[in-house]
Amino acid sequence: MAKPKLIVFDLDYTLWPFWVDTHVDPLPQGQKWRRGLQLGVASRTGEVSGANQLLSLYNLNQYLSLKEIYPGSKVTHFNKLKADSGVQFSEMMFFDDEQRNITDVSRLGVHCVLVPNGVTMKLIREELVKFSQRRPVT
Ligand SMILES: [Mg+2]
Repeated sequence: MAKPKLIVFDLDYTLWPFWVDTHVDPLPQGQKWRRGLQLGVASRTGEVSGANQLLSLYNLNQYLSLKEIYPGSKVTHFNKLKADSGVQFSEMMFFDDEQRNITDVSRLGVHCVLVPNGVTMKLIREELVKFSQRRPVT
């Protein structure tokens, strides 16, 4: 089954509700994150130190190998993520609550998911299935 090598989350209104609800055990028992899967965040917030404080507060840094937190187009964030991880856009998934970010990053070839009410494990599992069923990019 084809799986992404890098899953990237927006922070505000995407990652926070999920992590806040489950911060004692952010990755539920039994959820097998495969070897080689990297997790990252891409945020356009101007509150860079505030975002980093929350990531520390919720002990999330241990799960994140890549962090791009600064204002601007998320295309910039993803070009940096690609350069730093060595992962191709076609092997990435991205969760965000704002359509403009989904539109921008989709153009790169990243599997993008618009998150209506915060990301959940259920949504991630569903999207992993969809990712595996995609036709190969030709
Ligand atoms: Mg957001």
